[in-house]
Amino acid sequence: MANAAQVQRMSRLMIKTLREDPADAETASHKLLVRAGYVRRSSAGIWTWLPLGKKVLENVSRIVREEMDAIGAQEVLLPALLPKEPYEVSNRWEEYGDLLFRLKDRKGADYLLGPTHEEIFALTVKDQCTSYKDLPVMLYQIQTKYRDEARPRSGVLRGREFQMKDSYSFDVTDEGLAESYALHRAAYEKIFARLGLDFRIVSAVSGAMGGSASEEFLAPAAAGEDTFVDCPACDYAANTEAVTVKVEPVDGSGHGPVEELDTPDTPTIEKLAEHLGVPASATLKNLLVKVTETSAAGAAGEIVAVGVPGDREVDLGKLGEHLAPAVVELVTAEDFVERPELVRGYVGPQGLAGKSFRYLADPRVASGTAWITGANKEGKHARNVVAGRDFEVDEYLDVVVVEPGDPCPKCGTGLRIDRAIEIGHIFQLGRKYADAFELDVLGQNGKPVRVTMGSYGIGVSRAVAALAEQTHDEAGLCWPREVAPADVHVVAAGKAKQTELALSVGEQLGAAGLRVLVDDRPGVSPGVKFTDAELLGVPTIVVAGRRAGEGVVEVKDRRTGEREELTVEEAVARLS
Ligand code: ATP
Ligand code: MG
Ligand code: MG
Ligand code: MG
Repeated sequence: MANAAQVQRMSRLMIKTLREDPADAETASHKLLVRAGYVRRSSAGIWTWLPLGKKVLENVSRIVREEMDAIGAQEVLLPALLPKEPYEVSNRWEEYGDLLFRLKDRKGADYLLGPTHEEIFALTVKDQCTSYKDLPVMLYQIQTKYRDEARPRSGVLRGREFQMKDSYSFDVTDEGLAESYALHRAAYEKIFARLGLDFRIVSAVSGAMGGSASEEFLAPAAAGEDTFVDCPACDYAANTEAVTVKVEPVDGSGHGPVEELDTPDTPTIEKLAEHLGVPASATLKNLLVKVTETSAAGAAGEIVAVGVPGDREVDLGKLGEHLAPAVVELVTAEDFVERPELVRGYVGPQGLAGKSFRYLADPRVASGTAWITGANKEGKHARNVVAGRDFEVDEYLDVVVVEPGDPCPKCGTGLRIDRAIEIGHIFQLGRKYADAFELDVLGQNGKPVRVTMGSYGIGVSRAVAALAEQTHDEAGLCWPREVAPADVHVVAAGKAKQTELALSVGEQLGAAGLRVLVDDRPGVSPGVKFTDAELLGVPTIVVAGRRAGEGVVEVKDRRTGEREELTVEEAVARLS
């Protein structure tokens, strides 16, 4: 039976396509999603999803939901407007810095708009689960997240308001956590495969989440902001944040171990602050310094990025401790993004803990490489680590050394260094949040056991943009069927006869269970309709045109461009 909702007439659809790229758009997904009328910019990094865009977003959500349900995760919906206190307990009220949207209620109490929800999920489980019998439990939500990104860009690829699927696992044992993690990992593989995304799984650093094991799902695309090492011949791939690519000693003599630098005790924090024109207590992002005198921080003339590139923050106070000898001229944060070729060196986060290491080249530089994450004595990645206390400096010696063309550690083929979009991220958090919130359940022996957590994110709205990046062509978007806003786009190319046939074909396809868009817009030329059909990117285009009188339509594959003339009966049979 025909399902009316399956047939969308374009004459009744709110859609305005654009011939010109939006002036501020640099990436294909940004241009095309706007031009095809899927999204509209509301304000910086904040987007309105229009009818077709909302359908794609919903399709992505549906696939995510199905696969999360399939591993036994339970869907919930937590608030996005959150009180400050739990984030103070975890210290993230501070740690997140400017990334957090903060606000006050009428009584002056502090709130935030949730950037991610480890705290609130830990509290939810603390409230709901009391015994080991209540665990393991996996919870997820698909929700609007808020991050005041330093550089919202590329349309919905990096929003300040965006849709995320975040899930959290709660187990009593480490083995349980490993199992929940494995379940998520497998579910993510299915999700991204169903979405039709080309993706790689790479080991990653945990960043602000804390915790230990962590992997990222990366969708290779030039528009991506992540850099990764990739083997063209086998499945080896690694994020350059986690694998240190090339490490040179300070004397620049080529590959070698990481060199520990002497850091003078006298901080010149005041000097630094003076240069910046900010108070000495300020928190900075992506600070770059130009070295005027060859010293521990670099060679004269070199520009050194300090702190963690990206949107994480650097405490100026700590910074001064190890930059002391070198800071003279500061380069703006924009330079770091706009002119990466300037950035030749990087002082890793370990430097902030009191010891400096210098790594040549930044991952944003084509020829080069990345920064290091420290491995602690258990071989786990850590941040905010202190050399000598948390790890032996020697342990840095086994970092992987790779440059483009270097042999793949698995199969020996020359490696590539590519750009990618982070579409998902999974973490074995361990007990960090459970400790903060004293999340215990009663164990088998009647004694309390501390719970161990995992957290798992998918950028649902970002996935839409990532797909657009990977699948588009010159003519427009080109959706994989499962996420496309319709299965078939029927174009009425002509007058009443064509429109009548197009609607009839649409009805029949709809009755066969297909989702159909019929371009029945009166007074719109066939040329414009064809152009729009290509732009919108529905996988199959059916044209009722010249031979409409004979009941013949043209069936075209959007991706391959293959076309064929078929009778309506043949077309319906073929497509359903
Ligand atoms: P990025 O490195 O791109 O800033 P992230 O590592 O900060 O992302 P996570 O905290 O790991 O992000 O969040 C989980 C997922 O949410 C990410 O893998 C990504 O797909 C998505 N995501 C994060 N920030 C944004 C954003 N500003 N806009 C859209 N999606 C985002
Ligand atoms: Mg981020
Ligand atoms: Mg990231
Ligand atoms: Mg991440």
